[in-house]
Amino acid sequence: MFVLLLGAPGSGKGTQGKILAERLGLRKITTGDILRAAVREGTPLGRQAKKYMDDGKLVPDSVILGLIKEELANPDAKDGAIFDGFPRTAAQAELVDTTLGEHGQRLNRVLLLDVPEEELLRRLTGRAAQEGRSDDTPAAIQTRLQVYQRDTAPLVAHYVERGIVHRVPGSGPVDAIATEIQRILGR
Ligand code: ADP
Repeated sequence: MFVLLLGAPGSGKGTQGKILAERLGLRKITTGDILRAAVREGTPLGRQAKKYMDDGKLVPDSVILGLIKEELANPDAKDGAIFDGFPRTAAQAELVDTTLGEHGQRLNRVLLLDVPEEELLRRLTGRAAQEGRSDDTPAAIQTRLQVYQRDTAPLVAHYVERGIVHRVPGSGPVDAIATEIQRILGR
């Protein structure tokens, strides 16, 4: 089963994705984590990505499409995976559709984590104090929320048309949200 976690920055995709991946025994593919590791290691990918990430902007598709292709080609993502942080643009969504299609697969479920903007801001600001992520500055947080609305939120319509979107209220306790997700997935 291929599951996409969709939602604004701070909506809990990473937290819920981790729980879900463990419960379903699937790999979670998180482009943000892959990029942050590349930045830490100073690889060519990391060097290209860093300034976009620090500003809260999307890393250009010219850089990301290759990364996504590589991740989807990984043998442990052959029968299923949890996607966290991608696709984030129309071009990325198209690549995911085509690549899964080439393997006789498709995206089965899209979980849309729904959290009010004030709470997103609260969470991102709180995390900034704890984790010190370089894109958790007030300006970058603002940009990330705007970029989500502009570039990523429109993908929802594309998946709604296919009837695979499930809206998940993302404000309560972590456990309750995880249980709701399991109920939706029926496992
Ligand atoms: P958040 O959801 O909190 O913004 P992520 O870890 O998903 O956190 O992303 C952090 C940053 O990494 C983004 O602002 C962007 O610069 C980059 N990034 C991650 N995934 C992608 C992607 N699929 N396409 C483009 N940029 C990405």
